[in-house]
This record gives sequence, C-alpha cells and structure tokens, in this order.
Amino acid sequence: MPSPFLRRLLLSLALLGLMSCTPPPSVEAPSTPVEEKGGSPEPQTEKAAASLQNDAPVDPLAGLKIARPEDRQDTPTIPPPANAIVLYDGKDLNGWVSTTNQGAPHWKQVEGGAIEVVKGGGIMTTRQFDGHFKLHVEFRVPYMPEATGQARGNSGVYLQGRYEVQVLDSYGLESKDDDCGGIYKVAVPKVNACKAPTVWQSYDIEFQAPRFQDGKKVENAWITVFQNGQQIHDHVEIPLDNTVAGLGGDPSQPGPIMLQDHNNPVQFRNIWLVPLDSATSSPASTDEDSNARSGA
Ligand code: MG
Repeated sequence: MPSPFLRRLLLSLALLGLMSCTPPPSVEAPSTPVEEKGGSPEPQTEKAAASLQNDAPVDPLAGLKIARPEDRQDTPTIPPPANAIVLYDGKDLNGWVSTTNQGAPHWKQVEGGAIEVVKGGGIMTTRQFDGHFKLHVEFRVPYMPEATGQARGNSGVYLQGRYEVQVLDSYGLESKDDDCGGIYKVAVPKVNACKAPTVWQSYDIEFQAPRFQDGKKVENAWITVFQNGQQIHDHVEIPLDNTVAGLGGDPSQPGPIMLQDHNNPVQFRNIWLVPLDSATSSPASTDEDSNARSGA
C-alpha cells in the first residue's frame, strides 16, 4: 500500500498526463462541410473549370465549316470618293424613308456605324437615280444555323427599286440565281465569292438603266457586280422590268436605291453612289468615271 505522499504524487502525475492529451481550446477540429439547401457544395475544381469556360472567347461561327481563314476576315471598307453621293455614312438615315409608308425609317442604328433590318418593311432613298451609275454597299448577314434557303440572312439591294442583287447567307454553297450575289431569277453569280456569315462583305455594282425611245424599250438594263473585290457578273442584261418584290412602276422612270426587309437582322454600312456618264459606258468596268453627272 503506497504511502499517502506517494499516492498524491501518482495522482498529480496522472492529472498532468491527461492535460497534455487535451487539445488547446483555441484549436478547432476540422468540421464536416454543411450541405447547402438544394444540393451538395460544388467541388472547387469544377467551379474553376466553369469559370475558365465562361471567360473563354465564344466563336460566333461555332459549328460552321470555314474553308479559308480569310473567309472570317472583313472585306476592307472603301471610303467614298470625292465625287460620290453619300447615301449612308453611319450617322443617320436622313435621305431614306420606309417603303411601307414613306415615313421615317424604323431600322435601327447599331454599333460600328451600321444599320440593321427591323421587321416591318424595307427602306429606300428619297433620291431617284437613272442612267448609269456605280453603287458601293457593305453588308453582313447573321449566322442562322437553324434556318435554311431563303430564310437564312435574306435581304437585298435593289437598283431603281426594281432590280434585286440578292443578299443571303450562301457561304460555301453552289450559287443559284436566288443566292447571295444573284440577280434574282435572272442571273447566277459566276463564282461564289461569299464570306462567312457575320463577316462584312461588299458589293460594287455598275448599273445601266434600260433605255427607251418614244416610250419603247430599246435596250435592256445591264449590270456588272463585284462581291468582295471579285467579279461575279460581267455586263449581264436584265430583260425583266421588275424582279421579285421590287417596287415596279414605269421602268423608263428613275427609281431609288432600296434595301429589303426579309425578316432577318442583316446589317448595312457605308453606302455611296457615283453617277457615270452613259456615253462613256464601259461594260465590265467599275472604274470611277471622272465625268460623273448628277443622277437625280
Ligand atoms: Mg432578298
């Protein structure tokens, strides 16, 4: 039997041993994550991956087969020459009216000095043009992968309000007369010069109105078109007096430049026209004629 002194000593040693095994009160044991209402907490690695995905640039043409890298590049814009009649310079639509009611155009201005088609009718210039002229138009069609045929980025550029050069997403297709660059129901483009949708493209159009003598047509209208700098029509005659959805009217009379509403958000920018002298008409040329005259 230990002595009272030895028992006290042994008890003190036992107490000291217990204290050394107890964690200090300031150190908390790790806790189990509390499940949030509605689901388990998202693992940190997945969160990081999702964040990276959100920050990555989104390819607007995802899913579209691009034949050449330049098909993604805008056609360089061409400023109007000194003798041009500027029809749209990116600031406003002064000089344009709605084809529906001849009132103020309802199309909207968008970033980058462009206008976008808004459903409810086309727009046309208040100024009328006749004779021989060159028209420059820049445009881009939306990417509408779910749409097909004539419902895919459709609009149009009408000369004298009567003769349509089609605007459509025809990228990579074998062109027909109703595809982009086609003279609607009249002529198929010689080549498909289209860029990918969403990319800025250009038309440089040389147009000669039909000629009349004593009220009788003696010469058809003709047209030469360059799309993105590539010739797609070379002095093509237009035997019709009005292509589909044109304004019609007396073909011996001047007409406006008209842009079509086909319910798709096609955009246009930098539109200008240079009147040319009919006497110096050079069929396949788009060179600007220094002898320009007023087409009004
Ligand atoms: Mg059209």
